[in-house]
Amino acid sequence: ACTDFDLAYFQSYNHLGIHEEMIKDRVRTETYRNAILQHQDYIKDKVVVDVGCGTGILSIFCAQAGARRVYAVDASDIATQASEVVKANNLSEIVIVLHGRVEDVEINEEVDVIISEWMGYMLLYESMLGSVITARDRWLKPGGLILPSNASLYIAPITRPERYSDTIDFWRNVYGIDMSPMLQLAKQCAFEEPSVEIINGENVLTWPHVVKYVDCYTVTSQELESVTTKFDFQSMMRATFNGFAFWFDVEFSARGTSTANSSSLLQNDNHPIEGSQRRKRANPSEALVLSTAPEEPPTHWRQTIIYFYEPIEVEQDQHIEGSVKLSQSRENCRFMNIHLEYTSGGRSFVKESVLR
Ligand code: SAH
Repeated sequence: ACTDFDLAYFQSYNHLGIHEEMIKDRVRTETYRNAILQHQDYIKDKVVVDVGCGTGILSIFCAQAGARRVYAVDASDIATQASEVVKANNLSEIVIVLHGRVEDVEINEEVDVIISEWMGYMLLYESMLGSVITARDRWLKPGGLILPSNASLYIAPITRPERYSDTIDFWRNVYGIDMSPMLQLAKQCAFEEPSVEIINGENVLTWPHVVKYVDCYTVTSQELESVTTKFDFQSMMRATFNGFAFWFDVEFSARGTSTANSSSLLQNDNHPIEGSQRRKRANPSEALVLSTAPEEPPTHWRQTIIYFYEPIEVEQDQHIEGSVKLSQSRENCRFMNIHLEYTSGGRSFVKESVLR
């Protein structure tokens, strides 16, 4: 498992800055709060565990929603502050802060609800979902509720030529000096690793493909070690194809009403692009969705982009076929290896990168 590198990982959450960034992300925090309120009837008088409580904010929302008991678990030292925050809000009778890993702490009862904000960049970075799975398998009552209930990771080809001109072509003429010997290094430095940045709907060449659908009730740690999928995109426009973007969404469905696999309608769907409605999927259960898609309001997750060293010109309707493999790095299982193979216009490419 991911134990060897946990110290550095949990220390990264000692800093208040990271919690401030998450809490100030209103799309994130308000969707969680609304989801808790939407499930208030279920949560009332029940036992909740908050996997990775951080400052305690989600635990307190659950207490406010009427939970009888909330176990707020965090292995980072931020748990000390969480406990003070609970006290300051007179909730010490309800919210029990446990400073330790969910893999190690003891809870001497079954729980009705698991809540957790476990999503990393590209959804699976940080591998924290494994800890939610552990909590589920240790404590969740049969028929219990997990929030969020499911998640989808998407990939789509993008155009972003200005990113290329700003960082690469720039070296061709620097105050009148030809610095083009830098080009190779510039490309390597700018595009070797994935880059976490905000793009928008106009950057996306076509409908996304679902890389991985996760049902939080049934997912296993094993299936997260390596995820492979094949794609076949068809560019909706003539454009410079600069790379692939990844993003995700999570859904807060009531038990048994997940819209699993409605997302598979996304690709090969020939509807024209219709403003902000593009790529929104059918959601018959009315479940709340926390989306980090480019056409949605930005979140602190932004999008994760893999840029190519050389852009590719594509025609409208041109196919972009290939595969992507995401795997936990051997160097540190919190890191993620991204192996991309793609063919377009008769040429094939491979790109390897590591999100660390
Ligand atoms: N729930 C808070 C914090 C989310 S960040 C909020 O919504 O604002 C994720 C938190 O999970 C971090 O504080 C991290 O220390 C904690 N965490 C991750 N894996 C954990 C594990 N296995 N056991 C306990 N805490 C964990």
